[in-house]
Amino acid sequence: MTERIREFLRNRREDGPCLVVDLDVVRDNYAKFARALPDTRVFYAVKANPAPEVLGLLAKLGSCFDTASVVEMELALAAGATPDRISFGNTIKKERDVVRALELGVRLFAVDCEAEVDKIVRAAEATGSDDVRVFCRILCDGAGAEWPLSRKFGCAPEMAVEVLEHAWRQGLDAYGVSFHVGSQQRDTEAWDQALASAAAIFHDCAERGIRLSMVNLGGGFPTKYLKSVPAVEAYGQSIFQALSRHFGNRIPETIIEPGRGMVGNAGVIEAEVVLVSKKSRDADEIRWVYLDIGKFGGLAETMDESIRYPIRTAHDGGEMAPCVLAGPTCDSADVLYEKTPYDLPVSLSIGDKVFIEGAGAYTTTYAAVAFNGFPPLKSYVI
Ligand SMILES: *Cc1c(COP(=O)(O)O)cnc(C)c1O
Repeated sequence: MTERIREFLRNRREDGPCLVVDLDVVRDNYAKFARALPDTRVFYAVKANPAPEVLGLLAKLGSCFDTASVVEMELALAAGATPDRISFGNTIKKERDVVRALELGVRLFAVDCEAEVDKIVRAAEATGSDDVRVFCRILCDGAGAEWPLSRKFGCAPEMAVEVLEHAWRQGLDAYGVSFHVGSQQRDTEAWDQALASAAAIFHDCAERGIRLSMVNLGGGFPTKYLKSVPAVEAYGQSIFQALSRHFGNRIPETIIEPGRGMVGNAGVIEAEVVLVSKKSRDADEIRWVYLDIGKFGGLAETMDESIRYPIRTAHDGGEMAPCVLAGPTCDSADVLYEKTPYDLPVSLSIGDKVFIEGAGAYTTTYAAVAFNGFPPLKSYVI
């Protein structure tokens, strides 16, 4: 927790859990990405934290934005980004949203099949848009990631060649290839195999007379939760080596789309212990600790106990014991950590504050709107 966040929370009088994001940390993260991958453009993944202050800072620093919907595009534009700095990176788009994006001036689109290319072709015709660029997303197995993205997005590399040719034949700019190695990717080598596939696609497209320009390296850069993670410099080095290995001295234009790595460590959630109890009189029985925040109020990424947040309390340093940690709603799915119980101080009691660190990404907007009458997570950006 930064001194600025600590000071802010010391003076906070309102009730209820809240997220506090320190913009100095976001600024520092942006600088680290820019330094670690100097020839790469940064497209911040807006979904990780779309707070206007975060977007405004990143726009000022020169970042571009990866958006998944028209609303996210409008947020990026309102924050000061120009449309040439925005991509529509969702591979699942309504055709009328593609039209709207083109009307806003956005020209860079992700696809992973021919039907999606056809939507963009029709939308470009309908709006009279030129220079529309598409990149094809390929499947990535997500091995090594704590939040893998499965098979929902992307196509097989052999199919990507067909999809890009299909776009090119219809007058779109077949711009490049993208992939996502899985979020919270702790293996710095995870980009290697996807870059080998990307190089093969560049080669196969060139044989068909199509010159691709860009590789979108996606997100996946981790933030520190309980386990330590490699520094962003290690990712930069490993990616550069993989690019050289597979593309030789013809390294393409590259972009990255960090979300978690840009904002995760910038935010702390303050929450409160509502209840500490046991399920039987048995002295060995594990404690249950219930917080006023849970799976539906901002901690959705505890699903399958994937993301384990560091939790600080005023009792740290005292005796610790495992507990089951749960949220406040009347839904039995609202348990954060049970399969692997969580160590918290024995003296933790009802009414105590807890501080959930590394909570700047995928919390405020990754929540139910008003399940059980609990309001959405409050957010302060300082
Ligand atoms: C969510 C997403 C990202 C951000 O991923 P992180 O693991 O948070 O860095 C990047 N690109 C795309 C296309 C995404 O959907």
